[in-house]
Amino acid sequence: MTKRRDRQSTAGKVTLTVLVLVALVGAAACRDSTSTTLATDASGDQTSEDAGAVEAQESGEEPAPTSTPTTLPATTIPAVLPQLAFDPTGSPVNGQTRGVLVFDEGWVSPVLSAVQGGHRIWTPCGVQADASGGTFVETVDVVIDPGHGGEIETGAVGVGGLREADLNLGVARRVADELRDAGLTVVLTRDSDIRLPIVTRAEIARALQPKLFLSIHFNGGSTTFSRTPGTEMFFQYGNSESRRLAGLIYEEVFAKLSTYDTQWVALSDSGVIYRLNRENEDFYGVLRRTGDVTTVLIEYLYLSNPSEERLVSDYAVQHELAIATRKAVVRFLETDDPGSGFKEPMFRGYGSSGTGGLGGCDDPLVQAP
Ligand SMILES: [Zn+2]
Repeated sequence: MTKRRDRQSTAGKVTLTVLVLVALVGAAACRDSTSTTLATDASGDQTSEDAGAVEAQESGEEPAPTSTPTTLPATTIPAVLPQLAFDPTGSPVNGQTRGVLVFDEGWVSPVLSAVQGGHRIWTPCGVQADASGGTFVETVDVVIDPGHGGEIETGAVGVGGLREADLNLGVARRVADELRDAGLTVVLTRDSDIRLPIVTRAEIARALQPKLFLSIHFNGGSTTFSRTPGTEMFFQYGNSESRRLAGLIYEEVFAKLSTYDTQWVALSDSGVIYRLNRENEDFYGVLRRTGDVTTVLIEYLYLSNPSEERLVSDYAVQHELAIATRKAVVRFLETDDPGSGFKEPMFRGYGSSGTGGLGGCDDPLVQAP
C-alpha cells in the first residue's frame, strides 16, 4: 500500500511540472503541422504506437491531411495517444516504448509516442509525462546501466567512503568510451547521480533493443579471504547468449584483476552464475525485466573489502576494467568464443535487497519548452 501511495504522489508532482506541456499537446489529433523529426519518431515500424494511429484513422475524428484518403500519411502522429499502462502493484509494465529521449542533464526517458511539440515519455520514476527537448535515439548497439544512484540508493559503500553508485557511473562512462572507440553506439541509463528504479532501467534497454545490456556494479558482503578475485557475473537463466557474454566478460576481467597483488574476498561460487526467485525466474529485476535483450549483471570486485576499495580507487585500474569489458564485448560480437568461469550457484535466498523500487523516487524536472 505504501508503494502505491508513493507512486500516486509522485505522479501528481510530475503532472504539475508538465502542465505547460500538456496544454501544448491538446486533446486529440494533431497530426499536421508537426515537424518531420517528430513524425518520423512515431511512425515507420509496426509497433503499438502505429496501432494507435490506425485506430484514430478509423474513428474518423479528424481527416488525414493527405490528398489520397486511402493511404495513411507517412507522418501520422497518433490521434489516440498511448497511455502508460501499470500493473496491479502500480509499477509500469515493461515493453511499452520504442526509442528514448536523451537529456543533456544526464537522464534518459523511454518514449511512448510523439506528440505535438515533443514526446510522451516514461519518466525516470516511471510515470507518464509529455516533454519537449531531448535527443531522440531509436536504437543503439549497447546500453550500459550504472547501478544505483541518488542520495538514498548509494549501493555498497567502502570504509574509505567510496560510494558504489559513483564508482559504477565512473566505470560505466569509461566502458562507454571504450566501446565507442571500438565503433559501437552506446547509451547510458543514467549519466548523472539520480535515482533510477530497476523497471525504468529495463525499459530503457527494451526501448532501444540493443545487442547487449550491461548493468555495472561493485559488490558488498563477503568477508572470506580468497587467493583469487571474487568477480561475479549474473546471466539470464536459460539464455545461452547472456551466459556466453557473462563468461567472456568474466574471463577478461578475472584475468586482468588477477595480475594485481591484493588481498581478495570471494564467495564459494564466485564466477559466472544465475540466481532464481521463488517463481524460477531471474531473481534480479534488471535480468528478468529486460525480456529478450541479452543482459549481464557485472559485479567486478568487492568494494566492501578495504584492500579492493583501495585498488579500484585508482583510475588506472578503473580504466583497465573498462578495457577488459570492451575486449569481452568485441569477442562476443565477433567470435563464437564460449567464455569461462561457469559455476553451479549456491542458494542465496529469496529476500529482496529492498532497493531499486519506485518508492520515494524523485523525478528530475521535465524541461519546459
Ligand atoms: Zn550494486
